Amino acid sequence: MRLAIISDIHANLEALTAVLEDIRLQQADRIVCLGDIVGYGADPAACLALVREHAGICVLGNHDAAVFAAHQRAYFNPFALAAVRWTAEQLSAEDVAFLRGLPYRISFENMLFVHSAPRAPEEWDYVFSGMEARMQARHFFERLCFVGHSHIPGVYPLDSGVRDYTPVDRFLINVGSVGQPRDREWHSAYGLLDTVAGSYEARRVAYDVETAMRKIRDAGLPERLAERLRSGE
Ligand code: ZN
Repeated sequence: MRLAIISDIHANLEALTAVLEDIRLQQADRIVCLGDIVGYGADPAACLALVREHAGICVLGNHDAAVFAAHQRAYFNPFALAAVRWTAEQLSAEDVAFLRGLPYRISFENMLFVHSAPRAPEEWDYVFSGMEARMQARHFFERLCFVGHSHIPGVYPLDSGVRDYTPVDRFLINVGSVGQPRDREWHSAYGLLDTVAGSYEARRVAYDVETAMRKIRDAGLPERLAERLRSGE
């Protein structure tokens, strides 16, 4: 099986369409989405429609939850807050019902998928380092755990002595962000797991960042949300 794992699309339609095209060229059998489909970007409804069409499996992100649950906005910065209020106005009742129905975690074939972290996914913890990843190791039993949320890709071994990805050891893998990368690199990030070849690849994809930025400005969303796409931070 070739499994593509996408996360943190954040309503960036240009990034999502470029990534879906790359996934098609990579001949992935299946797509999993780790949440934050909406928030920040200018195309929430179109991105939701594409995710529903292409990703058979999807879990809930904090920006998705903030659309339908006001208390989830408590720790949002002013930019995120402005974006979620605008986003809620763009979505249909059916779109919101879809977000409401997303689970915090999904497990299959010895893999766990969550937006933030395996320990209490509803608390939206971040995993930024190998040490933080190892602290999560006892909170799931699967061999692999895939996360997003920080927008910074990373492959973290959970067994001592292991460095690079292997098909037998345990790992927590952050696939990075499709629509708002924050590792000072504007190219969209996603993960490609090949269970036959026993490989994992952190892929980067170029997209029409200028158009995505222009749409954010045209929608009246904060300028910072446009600028950070090009700087990747
Ligand atoms: Zn996010």
